[in-house]
Amino acid sequence: MIRTGVYPGSFDPITLGHMDIIRRAAHLVDRLVIGVTTNASKTPMFTLEERLETVRRETDGIAGRGEGIATEIDVVSFDSLLMHFAERQGATIIIRGLRAVADFEYEYQMAGMNQQLNDEIETIFLMADVSLQPIASRLVKEIALYGGNIGAFVTPAVAEQVRERVESIGRKGG
Ligand code: ADP
Repeated sequence: MIRTGVYPGSFDPITLGHMDIIRRAAHLVDRLVIGVTTNASKTPMFTLEERLETVRRETDGIAGRGEGIATEIDVVSFDSLLMHFAERQGATIIIRGLRAVADFEYEYQMAGMNQQLNDEIETIFLMADVSLQPIASRLVKEIALYGGNIGAFVTPAVAEQVRERVESIGRKGG
């Protein structure tokens, strides 16, 4: 049986924290579906198409890289209940990343409710490498908007995309 896992998120933009979770998740499943949400944030910095393309580019080459690593990574958008998306993808696990205690309450509640919706799909929480745990897309955008260096949080290509977007919408502060 092929084991499929779904890793959902808004990826606005994808960070080194996300990438670390994706690499770890790839060790747990045969097929990993990265689900990019359409409406997670009301005003995303990047459009859905841009986020899909960036996640695809950044995760290219992870699948099938070695023994015990997922042979397939699919990046797809979804605009439905996470559990319905997971069911449609034939997934048996949902993967979430846990950063600090701050994430815990919301994630715990969501996993609990998802368990009620479908008890056969398990939510699994993964921790990113300690050095990557504080990274959050929201803070990456905030730092970039104020002209800070985001090079430690995202890949060079993503940093460039964020810088370009910030230039086009206008940087904050003086
Ligand atoms: P969402 O809007 O669903 O929170 P995100 O794109 O912000 O979407 O995050 C997707 C998932 O990745 C979430 O489970 C989140 O907790 C996890 N995640 C994000 N950044 C990190 C990180 N630095 N370390 C561990 N998990 C992370």
